[in-house]
Amino acid sequence: MPERFDVAVIGGGPGGYVAAIRAAQLGARTAIVEKDRLGGTCLVRGCIPTKAMLQSSELYSILKKGADFGVVADRLSFDLRAASRRRDQVVDQLVSGVEGLMKANRIRVIRGPAHIEKGGGFTVNGDRFHAENIILATGSVPARIPIGGVEHTIDSDGILGLDEIPETMVVIGGGVVGMEWGALYAALGTKVTVLELLPQILPMVEADMVGLYRRHFERLGGVIHTEANVEEITKNTKSLRVRFRLATETHEVAARVVLLATGRVPYTAGAGLEEAGIELDRGRVVVDDHLRTAVKGVWAIGDVIGGVMLAHVASYEGICAVENMCGYADRTPDYHAAPNCIYTDPEIANVGLGEKEARESGYEVKVGRFPFAASGRALTLGQVEGAVKVIADARDDTLLGVQMVGPRVTDVIAEATLAVQQRLKLHDLDLTMHAHPTLAESLLEAALAADGRAIHIQNRRMQRPAAALSANPPIKERAVARSVEEKPKSVDHGAPPAAHVDAGRVEMKRQHRDELLRLYRQMLLIRRFEERAQVEYTKAKIGGYCHLNLGEEATVVGGIAALRPGDYIYTSYREHGHAIARGVDPRAVMAELFGKETGVSHGRGGSMHIFDLKHRFMGGYGIVGGHLPLAVGAGFAIKYKKGDEIVFCMFGDGATNIGAFHESLNFAKVFHLPVVWFCINNQYGMGTAVERASAVSDIYRRACAYDMESIRVDGMNLLEVMHRTSEFVDRTRRDSQPRFIEAVNYRFRGHSVVDPDKYRSDEEKERWRHSDPVVLFQHQLQEAGIADSAALEQIETSVGAEVEDIVRFSDESANPAIDELYRYLYAGEWEMYGDA
Ligand code: FAD
Repeated sequence: MPERFDVAVIGGGPGGYVAAIRAAQLGARTAIVEKDRLGGTCLVRGCIPTKAMLQSSELYSILKKGADFGVVADRLSFDLRAASRRRDQVVDQLVSGVEGLMKANRIRVIRGPAHIEKGGGFTVNGDRFHAENIILATGSVPARIPIGGVEHTIDSDGILGLDEIPETMVVIGGGVVGMEWGALYAALGTKVTVLELLPQILPMVEADMVGLYRRHFERLGGVIHTEANVEEITKNTKSLRVRFRLATETHEVAARVVLLATGRVPYTAGAGLEEAGIELDRGRVVVDDHLRTAVKGVWAIGDVIGGVMLAHVASYEGICAVENMCGYADRTPDYHAAPNCIYTDPEIANVGLGEKEARESGYEVKVGRFPFAASGRALTLGQVEGAVKVIADARDDTLLGVQMVGPRVTDVIAEATLAVQQRLKLHDLDLTMHAHPTLAESLLEAALAADGRAIHIQNRRMQRPAAALSANPPIKERAVARSVEEKPKSVDHGAPPAAHVDAGRVEMKRQHRDELLRLYRQMLLIRRFEERAQVEYTKAKIGGYCHLNLGEEATVVGGIAALRPGDYIYTSYREHGHAIARGVDPRAVMAELFGKETGVSHGRGGSMHIFDLKHRFMGGYGIVGGHLPLAVGAGFAIKYKKGDEIVFCMFGDGATNIGAFHESLNFAKVFHLPVVWFCINNQYGMGTAVERASAVSDIYRRACAYDMESIRVDGMNLLEVMHRTSEFVDRTRRDSQPRFIEAVNYRFRGHSVVDPDKYRSDEEKERWRHSDPVVLFQHQLQEAGIADSAALEQIETSVGAEVEDIVRFSDESANPAIDELYRYLYAGEWEMYGDA
């Protein structure tokens, strides 16, 4: 009878042992199988031994400059054997620590290679075991490249065995492993030559930051050749010779040691995976977005699934997989804030998007830089090389990424990681007090620099002219007042701007699960927000009018998802859902309805005027179609600036019967303006049915009078709206020709909260309820196996909690101060938004 477990983990690296501990914490009877030492590549041959050695070389480098610090050491030398001994002690201590953790968590440790069988069974050294769930965490091994003489090289495992410092070394591959070992030996006096096939070493780091590091490496005597194609390694009595090609020229370099660091490949040898039916793709185990393999009950994590091959990513995936299999959570790994650390000297670290990557993803970016040469702490350490670079979304200041080169940046990155993970804004960093003197202050300064407000360096551009200061209260004070009140509470924001969705590409497929659930959540949030607005209106928390668009969610979310962050939305006044779909903070939208200072228009817009310049959301204009000519104005501005933005002008069917509609469409066509007209036909203009109020009730047909391409879409079907709008938006962006979309939907409540809605029959309403866009999308998600009822319930709960928080926030926010009622009313106030 085989020994049975709830969870068996194959591989004891940072993915495997962390998964095993989490499974045991959740009450699973757990086993871990390891054929070598617990701790895996990370503890035994990777992260830890390299860092222990790098610590020795760093100490050596510092002591060489010791006299400057007042520490005079004669006959300084480096003892590689002693450093290796210390390294091994560190490794031993950590490995025995992991063994202790296995014991403390009552995890059965099985020694030997595991071989998987069908149906949950596996064998180790001939013994049979069975587990309900198996997690494959068999890691990776160094990649070999097929070049002549490769047998003369050593890899990242072999280099641990060196017992003397070589005079010369060639490193083939300028990735993390190659550069860390290269940096270490360069610091010890070895003449290191790096040969990298790509145009840049460390391709995961921004080119300008790599440049900062490269200068340091070259000062140590290191040589880097990029676009270098290694052809052969030959051996003679004294040394190795590496032949490589640069463009058309052939070169040769001699070395005592050649380190082959051309990456790592997933390791599955001997585990019987393919026979057990587990799908492999070029050696890596294929998993779905929940980390399940193709075989029921078998999961995989860490290096063996490819992707980002880092220890913390493996551990994170291990926890996700275990929590999913134990039914504790429904987790799809989110890699957008996976930090990347390189322990060269100076260190390199980054998280999130780089500047180039952000621009290529369609963001308009704001960048702030701060050099360590201006950091007090860096000066005291005597390590002033490098800089911090912060990349934010220019529209709303959300932090997109941080890149750093400099002392201890592998620790400083933790704060940046939290900020990127939580999608914090630049000002969230500057509202956080930073201890002095610390290296982390440089991150704060870089965030300030992005706004032209850095304190300890000269700013390249000031945020706004000094003259404006006398007219308005100081920016900082204002930012503090708003941001402290608006600071996110313990809600899951969950519904980032629709711009994060690749609208033309998302299909009802499992690989698009995250985007689909985000879209669904956004529709649900808008629905619950509006329902709650009605409740709050009846409690007299909302003054004036309160309009409802229940039933229009798919039209609104699908339409707006097709836009880029830089595009402009001109919409009818009072459209809460449009603002939320655009990513405007829903708390600020509700606070506006409540007339509070924290509202989008600081409580001056009442229940109607929802306007957010940072999101390019112009919802604050005149009644019915008053905003259509303004969209034309914005179209002209884009054309003159030769921008690639478009204007998305949203209006109801009622607006198509006014003169401004004719003038606007005519202008847009005559002057080839990049405007997409988006008519939301909910079939009633206040209380009159469209077909009774319009000569041409197929509204999209009217566009032909302006020689404009037009379509009608099913406004109750999110994906249809999104795909077809996306197509029109893309074409208008390319050819600057206006286009017209009519989205037909049905609003379930009257025009406003106080509309008795007697002009429609109950049968009609009932008929349309079967096409409720939120419910329809729910069914589609379920039918496609993308979300089960538990996942949908979880979203409902989280949206419910968010709506509670939105109302609480609005309730608790202050009313505008009477003596400041005219603040924010005039154009001069716009300066607070910088260049937006
Ligand atoms: P591994 O750590 O590779 O563990 C897999 C384990 O599975 C191994 O112990 C193996 O013996 C065992 N195994 C395999 N097959 C079987 C089987 N059939 N039965 C039983 N056991 C099996 N990452 C960082 O985040 N930071 C760093 O600073 C860093 N530095 C690195 C430096 C170097 C030189 C190297 C090589 C890697 C470094 N990495 C670093 C990468 C990091 O080590 C890996 O990403 C991480 O170890 C992957 O964890 P894992 O659990 O997926 O696999």
